[in-house]
This record gives sequence, C-alpha cells and structure tokens, in this order.
Amino acid sequence: MAQQRKAGPKNTKKPVKAGKSAAPSSAAKKQSSNRSAGAGRSAKTPDSKKTAPGREVKPPVVTTAPIEEKVVAVPEGPERAGFALLLGRPNVGKSTLLNRLVGEHLAAVSPRPQTTRSRILGIVNEPKTQLCLLDVPGVHRAKSLINRAMVHEAMTALGDADVILYLAEAGWPAKTEVPAEEIDPVGAFHRDLLVEVGRTKKPTILVLTKVDLLPKPLLLPVIDAWRKAFDFREVFPLSALTGENVEGFVDVVREYLPEGDPLFPADMLTDQTERSLVGELIREQVFLQTREEVPYGTAVAIEQFDESERVFDEPADEDESRLHLRGPGLVRIEASIVVDRSSHKGIIIGTRGERLKAIGTAARRHIERLLGCRVWLGLHVRVVPGWTEKRTHLADFGMDTKAVK
Ligand code: GDP
Ligand code: MG
Repeated sequence: MAQQRKAGPKNTKKPVKAGKSAAPSSAAKKQSSNRSAGAGRSAKTPDSKKTAPGREVKPPVVTTAPIEEKVVAVPEGPERAGFALLLGRPNVGKSTLLNRLVGEHLAAVSPRPQTTRSRILGIVNEPKTQLCLLDVPGVHRAKSLINRAMVHEAMTALGDADVILYLAEAGWPAKTEVPAEEIDPVGAFHRDLLVEVGRTKKPTILVLTKVDLLPKPLLLPVIDAWRKAFDFREVFPLSALTGENVEGFVDVVREYLPEGDPLFPADMLTDQTERSLVGELIREQVFLQTREEVPYGTAVAIEQFDESERVFDEPADEDESRLHLRGPGLVRIEASIVVDRSSHKGIIIGTRGERLKAIGTAARRHIERLLGCRVWLGLHVRVVPGWTEKRTHLADFGMDTKAVK
C-alpha cells in the first residue's frame, strides 16, 4: 500500500535561496557526469562555468509557492530521477503540459506554431520522484535557418532523454467521403518521425493531447490506431488545458526513470534565469497579439534588468544574496522586440503605439507575478534585417546553429 504524506518539497512556505539552490546536488553532479552532453547542459547552473554560447549564467528560478495542505501519495519502490523529453509537432500542447506539471508558467504558450524556440527544463518534484521535463520546439518540415535550428534542437534532445513523451493530438481526420477503415489518424509525418524515435530504443510513452476536443466514442479507435503504428510502452490520453486525466501521469512516467537521487535541488523549478523567462513572457505576448508572419520574425533582447530597488526579505550576505519572494520593491526592465523587416516595426507598435502598449501591459502583469514585485517595463522595437537567416544573430538569441545544415 502506498503511504500518505504531506506535499513534497515543491510546496514549501520557507523562502528558498537561489544562490544555494543554484548548485546541483552532489547526486546531480555525480549523475550528470555519466550523462550525455545535453542532459549535462540542462543541469547547468551558475556554479558551472561551462555555459553554451548565448546562455546566461545567472541563478535559475526557484519556487516561492505557498504551502498547500495537499496529501500526496508516496509511491512504492526506490527513488527515481531522470529526463523526459516532450516531443511532438508544433502546437500539440508540449509547453502547456510542461507548465501544468511544473505548476508555473515557465514556457511560452500561444495558438501559433513554433512559439517555443529553444530547450526549457521544467522540474517536477514529487515524493521519491524528480521528473525533469525537457520542452523543445515542435518537429516540422523546416526550410528557413531558424526553423531548421529549432528542429535540430528537438531532435538532438532525443539523445538526452531517459524516456520520450511522444505528444500527438487525439484527433480523427474529418474525411467523411473516405470509408472509416481507410482513415489513418496517425499519418505519414508521425510514421516517419516514429522511425527516428524507434532508433533511440528508449522507452516511449504516447501522450494523446487535447482529449477535451475529441468526441469520447472516438478515443478508443484513435488509441488503437496509434498502438498499431508503434510499440508504445504506455498510452496516456489527457488535456493539458483543462487538466482532464492529468492526475496520475507523473506516476506512470516515473516507472521509466532511472533509479537514483534527485538531480537538482528540490526547490529548483527550471534551468532558465529570471531574465530569460522575462524575455519569453514578452515574446509570448508578441505571439498572442500579432498576426500572420509577424511573430515568427521577432525575438526579444533584455537590454537592462535593474534590481537595485528590489527588496529582499533578509539582508543579503555573501552566501544568501538572492531570495525570491513576493513583496515590495521594483525591478526596472528595458527590452527590445527585434523584428526582421522594417515593415513589421509599425505593426508591432500599432496605431498611436497601442499594440506595443498592450503587449507591454500584459507582459508586465505576468512578469510581476514571476518576480514577485512591481515591474517597470520599457519596450522598444528594433529592426535587424533578416536576423532569422543569420547564424550570428541566432546565436545572440541563444540558438546554436553550428551543427545545423
Ligand atoms: P506546443 O507548440 O506543443 O508547445 O503547444 P502549446 O503548449 O504552445 O499549445 C498550443 C495551443 O494549444 C495553445 O493555444 C494551447 O492553449 C492549446 N492547447 C494546449 N493543450 C491543450 C489541450 O489539452 N486542449 C485544448 N483544447 N487546447 C490545448
Ligand atoms: Mg511550445
């Protein structure tokens, strides 16, 4: 029988110390040396001097969530910890699922494909389980350099995963003229991608997403078709948006993680810095508030992140210099929205600056929640012609294209 205990370390009331939690636990250090390069990269922390080009070396974000009197079952068996890759086409709901499982808005989400540009680590801490989720861009048939770089990022992450979470929309093609038995709900794209996945020989779980949109009688035929297409270890239908059937998901994935101590401190939620999450929150608003090709040619550069008026709960000393608390104080941020065509500058700014103001207002609200204090946000629009096709510019925005053909 599973024992019961109060919520795990994620729900701690005690303020957490980023300076301290930034360092991987000794178990993480031990294990990451046995892991492939990417997993090591995910574990990268301020203490680690080896940072990929374009990656910042600042304390990662840790939880400040208030304690919840939630009763969580303790699973039987050993402690487990490892990396699970969220793999799938663009827009299938990878980032939404990461955010739901971690319980924080870490990854940008929008109804437009290719919102996610680079890898984000989200850490789920549950009793005896540390599930390290890797969210990557969606796999698609890419032409432009930026899109090829995104697909490359997704496919190289395959090598770093202990278990692959293969996400696909639980859909049934609406081809009424074709007899039901001739309809293929899996499709050629997935069959090709699953060949690549099969080559890794890693345990693969099918996550059928957006089940809230599927008429329930179709669920079993859809599952059946996918099971015939690939030897999935498990099939898990869920809705990351509504939360339907999400409960129990971590317990299923847990069974495919290696035995071992946690790889990261229990209060660490992600490897992303506050600064990079702020950039993502602004970019998310650009994706939500602009149309057609405009968002795909945008990036966000944080020009200034002034914390001199930020108030921390305890006096800072050498070891305890950064505390992530909600409270008074102010952070001043200056950011540029970079566009690749001058005609897009006016679109982002909008009539009398209204669109830029709306982007800034919505982004600021999310940033204040993230930083736990008031935020002054200054937004500018900068044109860098053709940056999405230039390797040096892509590197400036954290996208490594050296190995991209
Ligand atoms: P990603 O590109 O795979 O990371 O997909 P996102 O997480 O950015 O989600 C793409 C869109 O699908 C967003 O508009 C989400 O709100 C929506 N979405 C994600 N999960 C679900 C779901 O379970 N049900 C429904 N109806 N929409 C979802
Ligand atoms: Mg995404």
